[in-house]
Amino acid sequence: MARAGNKSIQAKLVLLGDMGTGKTSLVLRFVKGQFFDYQESTIGAAFFTQVLSLNEATVKFDIWDTAGQERYHSLAPMYYRGAAAAVVVYDITSLESFEKAKKWVEELQRQGNPNMFTVLVANKADLDTKRKVDNEVGEQYAKENGLQFFEASAKTAQNVNELFFEIAKRLARTT
Ligand code: GDP
Ligand code: MG
Repeated sequence: MARAGNKSIQAKLVLLGDMGTGKTSLVLRFVKGQFFDYQESTIGAAFFTQVLSLNEATVKFDIWDTAGQERYHSLAPMYYRGAAAAVVVYDITSLESFEKAKKWVEELQRQGNPNMFTVLVANKADLDTKRKVDNEVGEQYAKENGLQFFEASAKTAQNVNELFFEIAKRLARTT
């Protein structure tokens, strides 16, 4: 029997965050199931696609993985404009990257699509011994700003599929 209400959604997703926080690594873990200790820096932005099949819908992600360097900042609106979801990434071993993530969240709240579903990702959870940002601090900030929050590791794959599935489920409910 055909599943009632199964729909097909195409959704633009953008990754934002400081250089070196693991944006590309998270995408490669999600799309290819791979991780590289010496991941090359992204220049400008990279594009990936991935399809997730849920019971209620099939979600095709068009993923824009941005570079994060300040010199590319002026390009960012091109990538987050029209995005259904944003993944803002920081590195738990870098307080500076957390501050930068907050700046991205503020920019999205000011200039992004008001319906955009935003997820804050505390990446490199495997480096707990070098941690500079407590889990509770990230979680609290996310809560205050209406964001979903995940601690994740592109290296160990912790929470990587989970965070993309959460986005897919949300888009399936609201699209
Ligand atoms: P981007 O600039 O945000 O795209 O960051 P990259 O994906 O290029 O990653 C920067 C560096 O951090 C690379 O050397 C990665 O191997 C490393 N890296 C990314 N994610 C993780 C992680 O979850 N754990 C650890 N230990 N290293 C990571
Ligand atoms: Mg990158």
